[in-house]
Amino acid sequence: MNTAALKQRVLSMALQAYQEKLFAGTSGNLSQYDPEQGIVAITPSSVPYEGMTADDIMVISLDGNILEGKHTPSSEWKMHTAVYKNRSDIYGVVHTHSPFATAFAAAHKVIPAALIEMIPFVGGDIPLAEFALPGTEDLGKKALRVLERRRACLLANHGVLAVGETVEKAHTYALYTEDAAKICCLAQGLGGVHAIPLEIQNEMRRKKGLEEE
Ligand code: 13P
Ligand code: ZN
Repeated sequence: MNTAALKQRVLSMALQAYQEKLFAGTSGNLSQYDPEQGIVAITPSSVPYEGMTADDIMVISLDGNILEGKHTPSSEWKMHTAVYKNRSDIYGVVHTHSPFATAFAAAHKVIPAALIEMIPFVGGDIPLAEFALPGTEDLGKKALRVLERRRACLLANHGVLAVGETVEKAHTYALYTEDAAKICCLAQGLGGVHAIPLEIQNEMRRKKGLEEE
């Protein structure tokens, strides 16, 4: 895929996620990796989403060398490239600070597998990665530890990391993560969350060809 198309896909998902309020201000970042060229199209650091164009999207190598673009790449580029270097099935990464999910991350709480779509899309409950400093490769490495069988996790005291075969899929998982967190918060107010029993989760996993837990 040419770099213009890669940049356009990252831009479209960034603008959509911003409209969906998955991040506020200039927070959050997204990328798409092209393994054939060994390049990553990634959002720029601290640039407002309003008025962002494909020209603002940066293109970097897996080592962080700037190949195209007029800004600094996202300060979380090391987290994104850590995912691409360690997972041959992942080509899209979306990082958000979406409010309900980030509340779970601040409370150091896993989002329970309480909604049916969490099993086929995200893999189950949404785990919490150990705290790591922002902007470090360690942030990506700690997330990868809990992402083995999941498409999204919480970054302690920080936000959400969603991964997928494409940036579009990773965006969907980030959106479902926020949805699940919001619904679980509402259910708490109605007397508590009932997670889907493990046996039923596994039946759902079997149907999807996913490994049982
Ligand atoms: P960037 O604007 O550098 O991508 O940073 C936003 C963010 O979410 C940091 O964790
Ligand atoms: Zn962040």
